[in-house]
Amino acid sequence: MFWVISVFYLAAAVLFILGLKAMSSPVTAAKGIKQAGIGMVLATVVTFLIPKEFTPTGDSAPILFSGEKWLNLVLIVVALAIGGGLAAYMGKVVKMTDMPQMVAVYNGMGGGAAALIAAVEFAGGNIHSGIVAALAVLGSLIGCVAFAGSVLAFMKLQGIMKKAFALPQQNIINAVLALIAVGLGVAIVILVPDEKTFSIAVPLLIIFYVVSLVLGALLTAPIGGADMPVVISLLNAFTGLAVGFEGYVLSNPALIIAGIVVGASGTLLTKEMAKAMNRKIAKVLFKPITGAAQGEAVEGTMKEMSPMDAAAAMRYASSVIIVPGYGMAVAGAQHKVWEMTQMLEDAGVDVKFAIHPVAGRMPGHMNVLLAEAGVPYDMIYDMDEINSEFANTDVALVIGANDVVNPAARTDKSSPIYGMPILNADQARQCIVIKRGQGTGYSGIQNKLFFEENTTLVYGSAQQVVADIITNLKTLV
Ligand code: NDP
Repeated sequence: MFWVISVFYLAAAVLFILGLKAMSSPVTAAKGIKQAGIGMVLATVVTFLIPKEFTPTGDSAPILFSGEKWLNLVLIVVALAIGGGLAAYMGKVVKMTDMPQMVAVYNGMGGGAAALIAAVEFAGGNIHSGIVAALAVLGSLIGCVAFAGSVLAFMKLQGIMKKAFALPQQNIINAVLALIAVGLGVAIVILVPDEKTFSIAVPLLIIFYVVSLVLGALLTAPIGGADMPVVISLLNAFTGLAVGFEGYVLSNPALIIAGIVVGASGTLLTKEMAKAMNRKIAKVLFKPITGAAQGEAVEGTMKEMSPMDAAAAMRYASSVIIVPGYGMAVAGAQHKVWEMTQMLEDAGVDVKFAIHPVAGRMPGHMNVLLAEAGVPYDMIYDMDEINSEFANTDVALVIGANDVVNPAARTDKSSPIYGMPILNADQARQCIVIKRGQGTGYSGIQNKLFFEENTTLVYGSAQQVVADIITNLKTLV
């Protein structure tokens, strides 16, 4: 039995890794999701066959099918049916604009589940060695922080909670809580494995879990505005680490590998996101952008343009770069944008898409939307690839993007987004911005670009405005 299980876990691990590799390109991403999904089903099914002692020598009948464990078997099957059913339903009904909230919920569930696994092992008196206790404590601490942090991230993205909320002396409070959690953790590692001191550890365990949850909530509470992408991906990395640690506690190789894969890829993504924002991870956590600072007052007026004039400006241009942002996602305008792009290309205009790493509300948000609409990958450029081209471009068309094209990030030292690399839409000969009104971006600050001499705004919801531009393009020869 042992080797059969090991072979299946190895196959599942290989599928996770192949799946992740395939997900690195939009062309193979769908295949990668399927591969990782098959790996997960394999790992789940084979777990039912685990014998009492999962060691090469302790071979016996699967524990879950033995007489006394039938209730657990029923509970697991019911939990799988509820969880799987809900996930399938949510996957179908959740809108693309709400995906980041769903990712936050999934992160939180992973972290919470890891912490609960350790709690069950502690409570059941199953931990008899200091090393296993230390791993369980680490997994619980990180899992609780990921769970509570993700709940807050969900509430902020969903608009249920204010984007940033800080207590006075927040960092000192966090440091004290972290010290208490570490101190309690050390005591638990010493007391739990010894039967004589186990009972002393029980109340400490309860306080440890509560403190870890409060710490997770307080760490995430002050983070809002433009820092959110880094936090979401950091919480994702935390969840992976917590799951990996609990994999050791349960001696389950599939959990260990899945946790390490998520932890490592989440850490790399966090680094990339932090680089894209030009922010140090420590600054995100301890000196977050709260949205309270506004930077220099912006002077001037915004000039309005009609969809007809926008259509003419692009139809008679030789090059157009489209910068999509969160507003395009909310409006669901991507299909119309692709239709407009094809018309411009047919008229001989060179059209490209420029994607900022944090455009939208989750990493890769814009790439997914454009791919869904059928935009070919070779028309889509990352910030570093295309930024130097704006200066030689006739029209930059900004569709529902704001923070990612705010030149204050380059010039205004007092701006909360100062130093964040932006797309150089302001350097194009003409810049046309589609937005509904005077609304600010996610970071809550005013955008200098909208007041520039070469910028004009077409007001309205992105889908309607682009549809109007298409109607007008049809009248132009
Ligand atoms: P922003 O949130 O900065 O701006 C969106 C703009 O879209 C607003 O100016 C809004 O103006 C406009 N808008 C909203 N609805 C519509 C609509 N229906 N039609 C047309 N326009 C609309 O978006 P960006 O993509 O430029 O920047 C992303 C921001 O989100 C960054 O600050 C980033 O840090 C943050 N973020 C990113 C995450 C990620 O992982 N990528 C995660 C969480 C946050 P108006 O109201 O006037 O229409």
